[in-house]
Amino acid sequence: MVTAESMEDSPDNRPRRRVSLFGATGSIGTSTIDILARYPDSFAVEVVTADRNAESLAEIARRLGAKLAVVADPAALASLKAALAGTGIGSSAGPQALVEAAQRPVDLTVAAIVGAAGLAPTLASIEAGSDIALANKECLVSAGDLFMESVRRNDIHLLPVDSEHNAIFQALGGNDFSTVERIILTASGGPFLGWTEAELIHATPDQATSHPNWNMGKKVSVDSSTLMNKGCELIEAKYLFGLEAAQIEILIHPQSIVHGLVSYRDGSVLAQMSVPDMHVPLANCLWWPERKSTPHRRLDLAALTSLTFEEPDHRRFPGLPLARRALEAGGWATNILNAANEIAVDAFLNLEIAHPDIVAVVEDSLTAAAGQNLPDAPGSLEEALAIDAEGRRLAQDRVTRLSSERQRTELI
Ligand code: NAD
Ligand code: MG
Repeated sequence: MVTAESMEDSPDNRPRRRVSLFGATGSIGTSTIDILARYPDSFAVEVVTADRNAESLAEIARRLGAKLAVVADPAALASLKAALAGTGIGSSAGPQALVEAAQRPVDLTVAAIVGAAGLAPTLASIEAGSDIALANKECLVSAGDLFMESVRRNDIHLLPVDSEHNAIFQALGGNDFSTVERIILTASGGPFLGWTEAELIHATPDQATSHPNWNMGKKVSVDSSTLMNKGCELIEAKYLFGLEAAQIEILIHPQSIVHGLVSYRDGSVLAQMSVPDMHVPLANCLWWPERKSTPHRRLDLAALTSLTFEEPDHRRFPGLPLARRALEAGGWATNILNAANEIAVDAFLNLEIAHPDIVAVVEDSLTAAAGQNLPDAPGSLEEALAIDAEGRRLAQDRVTRLSSERQRTELI
């Protein structure tokens, strides 16, 4: 996958890896930049993208010496152009420009856009033959069959950035898949682990986005607080590793030290451990299949008082069993689950609905969609986006009703 063009400028005669970074201004984007900027002899940056923060994106593009900067929002193009004036770095805007940027073949695309908005550019990148470091799990939740079919057809490497999946990827090593009995993904349990159902009704966006172990974007932080993140990761794991849903187990592990485990048929269990820091899985993907030393914090086992594991409480966190049911129902259902969840998380962050309403909105949207004649699983990008739009419509309907009920109760 290393191209002739990427053979430039490396002092130790190793080819520099050409990298594009989609979602450069986010939490994963920022951690990726830390590594790319620290090792300029190892990486040459082609494209960086953001939703609409033109100033930050221009600064990133200059710092990394990127060739092209793209904003999803066309209204941000004028400020991007102004901020890049005289640098020789190209700029463009809009969803189609994101796709065209993804069509530039590179050695590795880091897919770190949040939500189903990342699906079209990530698929375009796969179709261009670029390897993918995948943080954007919503791609697989939304269109897992389509996505994995494209990965196989284009014979690219799909490297999981999500810490649990990266752990499984590492613990699998080169072992024969048929010898795997099951895998275990761990979950920190999020900020509301010990909260009662009554307390959860009053959970605020600030509390939901204050994660005890990880510093992440708002959407994935809220998903961690409902355990919908782990529900999405269950679906992500099924597609990434081609396992049956029943072979994937979730355990609450509040210390976030053991990220994932693979249990083999001879009774051996291989686990991957590290401090909770996304630089670790990102470094693993950026340099794969090599391992390079990084400056990040190391795990000090003797300083740990305990490592604990427990079953998740499905009653307080119904998002997890709901995701399992959607996975069993098929690709249409996981697509609706993702779209409805994106709408519900936004509504919670905008104070329109309460925390327990997030999963209720997703469940109601799934029930409503089950009565429609949706295709079993999206067979094309257009079909995936059409089901996604329907999921958003159903969820928005439910949010509007819930928030007006809420306003009425507050007036009484
Ligand atoms: P974030 O909100 O911090 O960043 C999201 C990025 O996507 C930003 O650069 C933003 O500008 C861009 N973006 C947002 N909407 C867009 C749109 N409509 N079109 C184009 N670009 C858009 O999110 P994050 O925490 O970095 O998470 C990114 C992805 O990685 C998510 O799918 C998340 O689930 C996954 N992930 C994150 C972490 C973490 O620690 N943050 C860990 C594992 C997986
Ligand atoms: Mg994760």
